[in-house]
Amino acid sequence: MKFYQRILKKFNKELLKMKKGRLEIILYHFVSDENNIFTGFGHNVKPVVFREQIKYLSENYTIISFEQAKNVIINGYKGPYVSICFDDGYSNNIIEAYPILEEFKIPATIFICPSVLGNRDLLWRDKIRYIINSNLTSQFIDFLKKCDNFSKYNFSLSVNNNFYGWSKKASAITDMSIQDDLNDFFKFKNIKAPEIAAQCNLYIKKSDIGEFKYLSFGNHTWSHPLMTCLDFYKQEEEILKAHKYLEEVEISPCALSLPFAPYNADTIAICKKLNYDFILDVSDEGNIIGRRGDDFLFLHRKMAPATLKGLKAII
Ligand SMILES: [Zn+2]
Repeated sequence: MKFYQRILKKFNKELLKMKKGRLEIILYHFVSDENNIFTGFGHNVKPVVFREQIKYLSENYTIISFEQAKNVIINGYKGPYVSICFDDGYSNNIIEAYPILEEFKIPATIFICPSVLGNRDLLWRDKIRYIINSNLTSQFIDFLKKCDNFSKYNFSLSVNNNFYGWSKKASAITDMSIQDDLNDFFKFKNIKAPEIAAQCNLYIKKSDIGEFKYLSFGNHTWSHPLMTCLDFYKQEEEILKAHKYLEEVEISPCALSLPFAPYNADTIAICKKLNYDFILDVSDEGNIIGRRGDDFLFLHRKMAPATLKGLKAII
């Protein structure tokens, strides 16, 4: 065998070893063929691609639930393992993705924000998407500039170039009262968020929870705030309200899926108080089995790319 082939073989062996000690968590949002005002923001995987990805993962990894992930991580069982999750609670997770999960007998967890379930409202990020896709961005920025608490917004931070990015930056919006300002703007324009949510049948409903053999449900906070924009008590309210909602439907959540990336010591303290096993963030790092940083398990998730090739490249 030639020298470089030997090196390549050794390299592949090392790579395999690394993979064996890893748990990859793949995060989905939308699984849909639809082209609606909510799908064009890089969060969508088409059902046909989702099926290819799940098929590939089921053939190459042991796919486990979060309940099993705790055992695997703590006891250092060798993998390679994958867990599947969905954030936000979109109905297409059940309509489009679930039949595929069922076909391959794959467990998954949906992390919900109960404030919008049953299409009672739109998540504030979906309101932002609606505004952008309805060409209302500059009207909304003008509205914010005139509202009572306008001085808390940092308009100098590229608000006109990248409104979508601006609106989810803690340094730009400073607190979560943008949620109230969005509601006021919708009222002012006579746009009815629940009607839009219902027209698109955007979110799952309470009665869906616990109805599906391969689905478990977890906490994604009540209304999807940027945690670092909230003080301890408001963070606690967001986490606890969603926790209690899940308990009402006989789910004992064991994980908080962070809305957005930022968190702080308050977020950790609240999850510890609730005896959660995990906090989930989004990061390219992956998870090394058997290595616990401290007494709390942070699990990193990788955002599902829109193609099978893209998925193979990140795991
Ligand atoms: Zn989310």
